Amino acid sequence: MARNYFIAGNWKMHKTRAEAAALAKELVAALKDGGHKYLVAPSFTALETVAALVKGTNILLGAQNCAVEEEGAHTGEVSALQLKDLDVQTVILGHSERRHLYKEDDELVNRKVHIALKHGLDVILCVGELLEEREAGKAEAVCRRQTVEGLKGVSAADLSRVTIAYEPVWAIGTGKTATPEDADAVHAYIRGVVGELYGQAAAENLVIQYGGSVKPENAAALMAKENIDGALVGGASLKAATFVPIAKF
Ligand code: PEP
Repeated sequence: MARNYFIAGNWKMHKTRAEAAALAKELVAALKDGGHKYLVAPSFTALETVAALVKGTNILLGAQNCAVEEEGAHTGEVSALQLKDLDVQTVILGHSERRHLYKEDDELVNRKVHIALKHGLDVILCVGELLEEREAGKAEAVCRRQTVEGLKGVSAADLSRVTIAYEPVWAIGTGKTATPEDADAVHAYIRGVVGELYGQAAAENLVIQYGGSVKPENAAALMAKENIDGALVGGASLKAATFVPIAKF
């Protein structure tokens, strides 16, 4: 398997600029000899600060969301163009907190995917089922729908700029992790769905991260699975002491 591991930290609505800078400096030093692909996604307010610190290093800069429109009267929104202007390279879209707390549906997420790709941003597209959907046997159907709808209209060429993050919602921020076997099974399923859409080779090259209470203690077992190509890390990404061991699993 030639896929490169991709470990990303989603800092969510945490950290002042000074705190973000302190963590970014620690990560730049600790990961400079790390062997994988890395990204940090600070709040919008800390992007410029962190951009200056990760520039020229092996850590990419991500944003946690972007507006669905390019510009205009959209109070409180931040556009893909404005993110590019801050040297952001990648945007996380469809995170479960955006889908469930802020009611973003598949159609909106898909429109954001297009606007991000159009403006030269790579995308981490998050998919994943709620606990009740898993218990009702619908985990695969939900992941299929979110993958198919999220990627609707994305060209095969642009798919190479998309990473999928499988994040079972019941595992996010709860301390509950999917077992490596359960996670791998869903990753394989999602890869199959992408294969149906884009063909076997594109599916084989697709990086699929796992997210949901990834910690230093469980990272290696998850990453050992055939279809798990990295991690999208929330809580444990807020401190170098927990993110660095995951990043260097
Ligand atoms: C996330 O927010 O994407 C996430 C996986 O969070 P946590 O690691 O805290 O479960």
